[in-house]
Amino acid sequence: MTPSEFIKRKRPVAHGRQALAAILLIASASFSQAQAPTRSGGSLPVLGDTSELPASAERRLGDRIASSIYRDPDYLDDPVLGDYLQGIWQPLMTAARARGDLSADLEERFAWEVMLIRNRTINAFALPGGYLGVHLGLIGVVESRDELASVLAHELSHVTQRHISRLMSKQSQQMPWMLAAMILGMMAASKNPDAANAAIAGGQAIAVQNQLNFSRDMEREADRVGFGVMADAGFEKQGFATMFDKLQQASRLNDNGSYPYLRSHPLTTERIGEAKGRLQLEGSASSASAVSAEGVRARVVHAMMAGRARLLGDVSTEALRQLLAQAQRVPLSAAEGLKPREAGALYAGALAAARLREHSQARSLADRLTTAAAASPSMVNAVELLSLELDMAAGRAAPAPKLANGKSRAAVLLQSQADLAAGRPQDVSDRLQTWVSTHPKDAMAWQLLATAQGQQGQTLRAIRSDAESRVAQLDFGAARDRFKAAQDLMRSGRDTGSGASAHIDGSIIDTRAREIDQLLREQALQEKLDR
Ligand SMILES: [Zn+2]
Repeated sequence: MTPSEFIKRKRPVAHGRQALAAILLIASASFSQAQAPTRSGGSLPVLGDTSELPASAERRLGDRIASSIYRDPDYLDDPVLGDYLQGIWQPLMTAARARGDLSADLEERFAWEVMLIRNRTINAFALPGGYLGVHLGLIGVVESRDELASVLAHELSHVTQRHISRLMSKQSQQMPWMLAAMILGMMAASKNPDAANAAIAGGQAIAVQNQLNFSRDMEREADRVGFGVMADAGFEKQGFATMFDKLQQASRLNDNGSYPYLRSHPLTTERIGEAKGRLQLEGSASSASAVSAEGVRARVVHAMMAGRARLLGDVSTEALRQLLAQAQRVPLSAAEGLKPREAGALYAGALAAARLREHSQARSLADRLTTAAAASPSMVNAVELLSLELDMAAGRAAPAPKLANGKSRAAVLLQSQADLAAGRPQDVSDRLQTWVSTHPKDAMAWQLLATAQGQQGQTLRAIRSDAESRVAQLDFGAARDRFKAAQDLMRSGRDTGSGASAHIDGSIIDTRAREIDQLLREQALQEKLDR
């Protein structure tokens, strides 16, 4: 049995697993190809002695991988956690840019996208082309945004230091599609801790993983550069040390199963020593006990987001019951000065209660957070969004409330969902038309817009929005099918649109259909060259 067959067998069978199955299929094909590299060796493109894969080629490789991830049921677009991650990611990008670690050229060519993966194990990884993956398990286990920042800064530095391109160019005898398949295969293997161990014992996967792992020197460089980026971005440097402690503890317990991060990032004595030395040099090693008032508030918000990640990582009834019980154990007297752990428990408990359809319970837990948030402005945004979610879950069709941070992506999308549920599609169209004009790659926004347009009988526009959501997730084939369907509808004259607006819709659809056709042709040509 090949490792991937083993994984396939171990995976729980559920609907919507086709994407993963497809990934595994490609992966097993690539394993067998990798065994006989000489067979087609003569026709492979030679990249020469360049030490780096060109940025454009690395991005193409990344796009291939990303388009598979988008279709995987474990890819998760949670706008609330997404905004939280962006609040950490954007300052890191700004700092990397200011330090000269991130060139303007690389910034423009790469995607710089952080993808959330529905997986309870502790992991984060950098992919070719500026895509990063973060497991829910990592967010659920770190105790501060600074710890999360230390991991993201490290991964960001692997990308900016072109470690990935150097690894990939070492593999330049492999075809790009095969590289993509290898990476996807490793990711699939890492999804199930038991299966991953078995796969690694299986031998073939060891070879693949060793080829794709960063060298010790690269790890040390990512630590060094990442530390600088994180410090310049204004995060507590201590987060770097406490994250190391956490990983060290896990590695002592030999907890590699739930910490795949340790497999790809072995903690060597040099790494630990250098990290400690850096902190001492900066003179911040002793500041662990002195957390500022602002720092404490940030920890409370982080604890709520960690609670959300834990909930989304396991929505079984048993797990929801456990989260609810934890929330109910938070003493009532705590409401005023909630400790981070208590706020996290109340937040996760409220969401769990809503999923268990215990809506009044959910509301009373959330109300305690609202009371606490009155004294802590940084909590307000998270608590307001929670409240909106609970209203939706309970089927309350009240008009979407004004939110303190109404311009955030989470606010825009959650309010749109609430308006859709309450039968106000016109409001949704108005809000999201503006949003997608500045965020054209927001697949979820396009999807919601398509629903709102469909509800208003704007079939042509709805199909176009649906098509755009496929484009945003790099599924150009599906997008072309939809644009074609829209064109057929126009020609049949059955669409309800009329006059000038129908004409404008029609010309937009024709233009976009041509652009996507062109994209697909270029992609097919590139694939021929890659082979
Ligand atoms: Zn690393």
